[in-house]
Amino acid sequence: MSGLFTAAFLRQIGWDADVYERSTVELVGRGAGITTHPELLEALQKSGAGTRDLGVEIEKRITIDRDGRVIGEKSLPQILTSWDRLQRLLRDTMADAHYHLGHTFARVEQDGSGVVVHFADGRCERADVLVGSDGIRSSVRAQCAPAIRPIYAGYYIWRGAPREADLEPETCESIFPYFTFFLPERQQVLGYPIAGLDNDLRVGHRRYNVIWYRVGDAQELRDMCVDENGQQHEYSVPPPLVRKDLIAQMRADAEEIMPPQFLDCLDHMQPFFTPIFDFSSGQFVFGRVALVGDAASSARPHMGFGMAKAGDDARALAEALGGHDDIDEGLAAYNRIRQPIGERIVRHGRKLGTHLGVDLRSHEDRTMWKLLQDHRAMMDWIAVPNFLGRDP
Ligand SMILES: Cc1cc2nc3c(=O)[nH]c(=O)nc-3n(C[C@H](O)[C@H](O)[C@H](O)COP(=O)(O)OP(=O)(O)OC[C@H]3O[C@@H](n4cnc5c(N)ncnc54)[C@H](O)[C@@H]3O)c2cc1C
Repeated sequence: MSGLFTAAFLRQIGWDADVYERSTVELVGRGAGITTHPELLEALQKSGAGTRDLGVEIEKRITIDRDGRVIGEKSLPQILTSWDRLQRLLRDTMADAHYHLGHTFARVEQDGSGVVVHFADGRCERADVLVGSDGIRSSVRAQCAPAIRPIYAGYYIWRGAPREADLEPETCESIFPYFTFFLPERQQVLGYPIAGLDNDLRVGHRRYNVIWYRVGDAQELRDMCVDENGQQHEYSVPPPLVRKDLIAQMRADAEEIMPPQFLDCLDHMQPFFTPIFDFSSGQFVFGRVALVGDAASSARPHMGFGMAKAGDDARALAEALGGHDDIDEGLAAYNRIRQPIGERIVRHGRKLGTHLGVDLRSHEDRTMWKLLQDHRAMMDWIAVPNFLGRDP
């Protein structure tokens, strides 16, 4: 996503930009829900991608209790979109000739005036600048700054997106139209509506994005990363290979604590899990290599801000390069502007993560943890717009 954003913004300042993606097929079908922010909407507009049929508009958020009764609500209009929709809008900004599937970055060489990028199959390309937009496990960053590694937050999420048509009428009526919170001790269950398959926004054809945060230490995570065939994975397991005994245990645990509406959702989705990591690179620029999006810094997902940051990084990079005759000065300006912002966003994610009570080290952590034990505070802080610079 940050690669497509970058290419779109660089073209606007008159640069030639090509995107090299390791996947051999177009990236479709990643069903995850994405909350939007004003910054993301602006980046989509300015990049030329636009916001056509972006997602489901909701009016408010609610908190429910174990019996499914509403115990709090807050008016907050938001658009909830999906990874697929954003990918389609951004992909449409690129001519096929400049989008190269099946290119896995292997290494980069620099000579002061440009880069030579080598791909795993032996091909190489020369360019003025390489923009590493290859996500939280960035191979570009691994070469430029090998010491920087994402840090496990001590918790993970179960996720899934049941179809609206499969849910009970009671679920559709009471929680489906809203951003819903259910907050048992040291856990969070969140849900919100997103488009159905092929961006279907019609009532009855949408899905409900469900996220269940649970605490688990590194050893537990390692055990979860053994798949159905007994193979150990490093960070997570592809959804179809998540072990059946884990899913059975997760469902049994849910029976103990969940309100009926979320149990209904769990009964109708294929669950998979994602461990939560974060980090921020102390530098976004290494010679003629710049990092953007999750490759540069990646926050815990409590703000739902990753896409907005990807768009803003890309835009700032193009503005900095467009505003300087000298490429190196432009890159230095980008680093100056965006690196501190990336770090602030990561810090903010950690602040919101204190709700789960993991590794509360400072007085500030404990104060934030205490504040977030109130469901009204959670509705005020989680995935809300304009959060930067706000203090509890
Ligand atoms: C659980 C969870 C929930 C989230 N919720 C939200 C939300 O609600 N709102 C929001 O805005 N953000 C959310 N995010 C964050 C968002 O998904 C990311 O910030 C966003 O995808 C960053 O995009 P990116 O392009 O930088 O990285 P990625 O999306 O990871 O893309 C990296 C790309 O690089 C490719 N690649 C990797 N290695 C190589 C290589 N060696 N060679 C070539 N290509 C390579 C990959 O195939 C991929 O296409 C969430 C994240 C998580 C984990």
